[in-house]
Amino acid sequence: MRAALTRAVRAMEVVDVAEPAEPGAGEVVVRSEAVGLCGSDYHFLLGELSDAAGGSQFPRIQGHEVGATIVALGPGCRPELAVGQRVALWPLHACGRCYPCSVGRPNACDNFELIGIHRDGGLQELVTIGQAQVFPIAVDDGALAALAEPLSIAVRAVHRARIEAGEKVVVLGAGPIGQCVALLAHERGAQTLVVDLQERRLTLARAIGADGLRWRSREETVRAARDWAGGGGPPVAVDATGAAPAVRAMVDMVASAGRVVQVGMSGEEVPLRIGCFTEKEIDMVGVSCCGGGEFGEAVAAVERNAPALARLVSDEFPLERAPDAIEHAIANPAEVMKVLIRVG
Ligand SMILES: [Zn+2]
Ligand SMILES: [Zn+2]
Repeated sequence: MRAALTRAVRAMEVVDVAEPAEPGAGEVVVRSEAVGLCGSDYHFLLGELSDAAGGSQFPRIQGHEVGATIVALGPGCRPELAVGQRVALWPLHACGRCYPCSVGRPNACDNFELIGIHRDGGLQELVTIGQAQVFPIAVDDGALAALAEPLSIAVRAVHRARIEAGEKVVVLGAGPIGQCVALLAHERGAQTLVVDLQERRLTLARAIGADGLRWRSREETVRAARDWAGGGGPPVAVDATGAAPAVRAMVDMVASAGRVVQVGMSGEEVPLRIGCFTEKEIDMVGVSCCGGGEFGEAVAAVERNAPALARLVSDEFPLERAPDAIEHAIANPAEVMKVLIRVG
C-alpha cells in the first residue's frame, strides 16, 4: 500500500509499505480517507518539535487529523464499532500511570503518544489503532471526519475557559483552531470577537457569527478589544496564535477576575508584567489536546456544523502529492487555512 513517509528533516516521499497484519485484541484497522495538516505537522517535518513534545522521530508516517472507515475489527472492540463505518480518530494514547493520567487528564500525560507524531499516522492507506481511539461519525465526507481533531482542541479550550452564555470572548488568531474556538463559544451563547492580521480570515469568522477585528499594533488591539467588550474588558481571552505580541495582548486586555487561555503552540517567549496576575487576579490556563469524552463532543459538533467547517478547507491534494501539500502549507501561511490530503 502507499504511504507518505517522512524519512528526515524536510524529506517526505510517497512509497510502498507493507500492509498491516490482522487486528489483534482491541485493535481496529481503518482505511484512511482524508488527513488534515496543521502546525505541529510542519514543526515535525522541519525537525522543530520540542523534546517535551517527543521531538521529531524519523522515519515516521505523519497525519494525526484523520477521517477513515473501518475495514477490520479485532476481538474485544466496543459493540458500536462495525466494518464499513466512517470514523474520526482520536490521536492520543496515554500511559494511564503518570500524575496527569491519575487525575483524569490523559491529554496532558507525561508519556503520551500521538499517531502521526510518536506512532505512524493517517498518511497511509491502512492504519491499525486501538479501539478506544476510534469514534463513529455521521457525516457524508471523510474530510469532515478529519476536522473532528482540530475541533477537539477547541472543545478542550472552551471547557478550560469555562465559557458561559452571554459572556464576551476575544479569540486572537483566525486560523482553523481560532475559528473552531469561536464557533463553539458562539454555540455556548457567548459573543465572540476574532482578531487576525488577515481580512479574509475575519470574513470566515464573521460567517460563523463572530465579530472581526484587524490586528494592528498590540496597544491598538488591546484598546479596541476592551472597547468591544465594554465594562472592564473581556472576561475571557483566548490565544490561538502562539505569537508573543498576541499573548501579551491577551493578558493586557482581559478583565480583572477574567480567564486567559493559551491554545496556540510555539517556542517563543513573552515578557508579561507580573502585576497583571496579582492586581487583576486572572486565571491563566493552557490547553493541550483533548480527552476521550471531549473527542466524542467534537464528533457531535462536527455533525452539527458540517457546512461551516467545510469552509475551513482551503486546499486539497491527493496522497501522491503529500510532500507538495505540506511544503505548500509551510510556504503560504497567510493564504492557506486547512490543507487536506485525500488518501483514499
Ligand atoms: Zn493538528
Ligand atoms: Zn500518563
